[in-house]
Amino acid sequence: MVKWNIVSVSGGKDSTATVLLAQALEAENLALVFADTGHEHPLVYDYLVYLSDAVGLPIQTVKADFSFQIERKRRKLESGDLPGWTDAARDRALAVLKPTGNPFLDLCMWKGRFPSAKARFCTDFLKRDPIIEQVFLPALDAGDVVWSWQGVRRDESPARRYAPEFEEVGGGLFNYRPIARWSAESVFEAHRVMGIEPNPLYKMGMSRVGCMPCVNCNKDELQNIALRMPEEVERVMEWERLVSDAARRASATFFPVVTDPMISSDADVSYERHGIGRMVEWSKTSRGGRQFDLLAASADPAACSSSYGLCDAG
Ligand code: SF4
Repeated sequence: MVKWNIVSVSGGKDSTATVLLAQALEAENLALVFADTGHEHPLVYDYLVYLSDAVGLPIQTVKADFSFQIERKRRKLESGDLPGWTDAARDRALAVLKPTGNPFLDLCMWKGRFPSAKARFCTDFLKRDPIIEQVFLPALDAGDVVWSWQGVRRDESPARRYAPEFEEVGGGLFNYRPIARWSAESVFEAHRVMGIEPNPLYKMGMSRVGCMPCVNCNKDELQNIALRMPEEVERVMEWERLVSDAARRASATFFPVVTDPMISSDADVSYERHGIGRMVEWSKTSRGGRQFDLLAASADPAACSSSYGLCDAG
């Protein structure tokens, strides 16, 4: 029986500090795994290459694959086995509904919608499940023990406040959160002491690292992303067009359609179909500024705060 110490890395500061601590503690059979959502900023991939070189450990990348689910949905559409679909909607969906190999996009095409702060299925489908299925289960099936090291800090969010430092999941799997009591300052200090640069996205004003943008992004973050990385907004707008075509109602926006009269009085078809574009326009205005942060107001306060630490909570 082998005991594996496996750190889930995201490219963010907390999982990096967890790697540094695991090395300092000389954890045996230490392995690093990254779940690639396909919706990461390019600097995340660059940073993971840097981190791997800097710590002298390979980082295994896992990806979710939804080609089976998409093919099954195609077959149902072709056979008329999906109630509520008109012939026109079915033809429109069949024209775009093909696996692209991008996990985030394929998940949304399959579901016919984007995840949201209130329906945050992305973390489970794109991060938790691939790591469990592709990394943990093979080791557990071989009779090994897995300690899953997670970069969770209790002061990140209310939902993480009581995250246990250690817990047995069962079947030989244990969750270990060694930086649960650390502050953000301690995390950056660990980088400094060990001579490791934090992800450069932090220096670009990003408060979280990972999906670009995250469905839990707030108004200021969205404004910053639109200013510095307009290509990411363009990409998501294109995804909104594709996912809308794959959806029964031909409408799927990255952020939920909102009803705030301050920004919906001029709602039109493009608003429905290009939600992120309209939200970016709004993020640049003073409307709903401090008094009414629409994205934050619509967000579940527990969002992006999975106790698995798979998404950077910012
Ligand atoms: S970072 Fe945000 S968008 Fe990406 S998987 Fe996590 S919750 Fe979902």
